[in-house]
Amino acid sequence: MYVDPITKRDKKLSLKDIDTAAPKKVNKEEALKQQEKLEEELFMLQDLMFGAKKNSVLVVLQGRDTAGKDGTIKRVVGALNPRGVHVASFGVPTEEEREHDFLWRIHRHTPRLGEFSIFNRSHYEDVLVVRVHQLLPEKIWKERYDHINTFEETLAEHGCLILKFFLHISKDEQKDRLLEREADPSKAWKLNPNDWKERQYWGEYTEANEVAISRCSSEHAPWWVVPADAKWYRNLVVTEALVKTLRPYRESWVKALEREGKAAKAALEEYKKKEKAK
Ligand code: ADP
Repeated sequence: MYVDPITKRDKKLSLKDIDTAAPKKVNKEEALKQQEKLEEELFMLQDLMFGAKKNSVLVVLQGRDTAGKDGTIKRVVGALNPRGVHVASFGVPTEEEREHDFLWRIHRHTPRLGEFSIFNRSHYEDVLVVRVHQLLPEKIWKERYDHINTFEETLAEHGCLILKFFLHISKDEQKDRLLEREADPSKAWKLNPNDWKERQYWGEYTEANEVAISRCSSEHAPWWVVPADAKWYRNLVVTEALVKTLRPYRESWVKALEREGKAAKAALEEYKKKEKAK
């Protein structure tokens, strides 16, 4: 696997020790070919999952401003049948959202069986931006790691396959991307003066992300720290993680579909018999 998932809690994670660049040994051309193959497989897996209605997929995308959350979504959604995909973005909570618990707005966007939900930011903002800017008292956000773990466990018990990606970019790469947005009119819509301000909290965000990833990683809801300076490598890592997570379920989905096919056939026979007897 290009990047291994983090599946255990309480592992002290140091983001500065993880490369943001694509590894030298991975060749871009080969990677693009591999990407295509993985996308074909992902499409087929999605089809089976959609029919079998035994599982769903939740993709959580986190990362600093310009880390490539939008680009990743575009790529992943592009590889899927849009019929079974729902994308949700989470910004500053509205008044109504603030008047509920922090998971209220999240829960209603979780996927139905058979479907994908892709989160552009997520419930993790409630232990990231909230922690960095002390938007709420420490006592409140500190308890949220446990709430998040319980929440994700509940989803997993309902058949939800959870994949969480931290798109890891370097400070220099972020600067280049912010400057590019300023220079390119077609990217101007992405410009947010706040991004330069948030950049001043680089270290605080690093720590907040490290704690969130360390405290909220498990077998059923792992994190991947994705080297994201090169977009082609980022896409490859995310797509591979999806395929490798879904692949082991393929047989069970095929069986469920076969059973369903047999049941439908039996019902039809029964119906025909009754019609004849009339
Ligand atoms: P993006 O930067 O994802 O393209 P926006 O420019 O709309 O989209 O930014 C969303 C903003 O909302 C981010 O600054 C993010 O930190 C903030 N946000 C998201 N969730 C929360 C939250 N629970 N509390 C406070 N701010 C939040």
